[in-house]
Amino acid sequence: TADISTISEKTLSSILEKNRTYYTKGKVADYIPELGNMDAKAIAFSVVEKNGKVFNVGDVQKKFTMQSISKIIALMIAVSEKGETNVFDKMGYFGTDQPFNHFSNLETTGKPLNPMMNAGAILTTSLISGDGEKPFLKILDMVRYITKNQTLDYSTSVYESEKSTGHRNRGMFYLMKNNGLISGNEDQLDNYFRQCSIELTAEDLAKIGYFFANECVRFDGDSKYKNAEMSRLIQSQMLIAGMYEFSGEYARTVGLPSKSGVGGGITVSVPGKMGIGVFSPALDQHGNSAAGYHMILDLVKQYDLSLF
Ligand code: GLU
Repeated sequence: TADISTISEKTLSSILEKNRTYYTKGKVADYIPELGNMDAKAIAFSVVEKNGKVFNVGDVQKKFTMQSISKIIALMIAVSEKGETNVFDKMGYFGTDQPFNHFSNLETTGKPLNPMMNAGAILTTSLISGDGEKPFLKILDMVRYITKNQTLDYSTSVYESEKSTGHRNRGMFYLMKNNGLISGNEDQLDNYFRQCSIELTAEDLAKIGYFFANECVRFDGDSKYKNAEMSRLIQSQMLIAGMYEFSGEYARTVGLPSKSGVGGGITVSVPGKMGIGVFSPALDQHGNSAAGYHMILDLVKQYDLSLF
């Protein structure tokens, strides 16, 4: 294996080219109609090294929606406002063998399994204080801060598309309201749809991965939110539940805290070291970017990055 100081655009580029055709093995998500318009061939790969240096290859300008990756940002904000005990009193720390939109355990214990699956994530967002759009705006501001990119915004067309078709999420929202976990109105669910619709690039995802890998210190060294406990919490959830029902096998093959979204992005934290961001919208049967997963796997093998 090679030393990580030798990572370059050249190494990333050869990994990208090797995996470019993996998109043919996956399928672009279309259960949210707007997502179906993504170009299946788009592919990007970014790394932010320990010293904050950024390496980008592929379709680096290409924007996509962060989807489930927004769940780690919402969790950070809810925990910093309410405290970890209060948040996890309402949901579990459990892993799962179920897909992202499963109702477990709303019908048995009454509480979501974890904040990474939709039910727990919808609940997490509802715990962020403020009326109307305010909780969403806090999430957007935090993503802008971490990526140091004030131009980031959400896609209103993806948002509208999710809102008008997200009946299963709406069902979860009302079941949790019935269970006494949610007290607000559907504005809170709208905030979840909006956060999923935030658009960014693979480079932005690498910066998010870097932030949680480095005690919530930004890639340029800004330490306004420095918090080692927070990064431990977020990375532990990414490790056990960040890749949907594939999380266990992913921990075996990649062995790094990662969070995937159905927009085709994956953010990866290499604890204490770097952040990785990948994008390719064709998803495998578990809902993870097919080419993205294989690019991460190759990088991890080449540089011996697994935690284990
Ligand atoms: N907005 C998507 C949903 O709730 C997010 C799913 C995901 O990225 O896993 O269906």
